[in-house]
Amino acid sequence: MESAPFPEVIPGWSGKVSVEHTSAECTGSWRLLGDTAGRVIECDHCGRAYPATAENRLAAIDENYAGIYLCRLASEGAAKLPPDQR
Ligand SMILES: [Zn+2]
Repeated sequence: MESAPFPEVIPGWSGKVSVEHTSAECTGSWRLLGDTAGRVIECDHCGRAYPATAENRLAAIDENYAGIYLCRLASEGAAKLPPDQR
């Protein structure tokens, strides 16, 4: 059985399509660009782009949510460190 990370947050996403950055280290966010005739999902850091299909858009939203969540965790963790170790 397929498992989507946030199926309750992104209804309709099958979890079978993913959008990949040019490298695993890229921390960019996906954004929707273009007009109705030529919309794409593009990373604001590495520039990788995909056609803005419904599945690609949902996969990009999923990854952006995960990135926001990880940033919050990192920030909360940093706040617990002594000031000289942040
Ligand atoms: Zn990227």
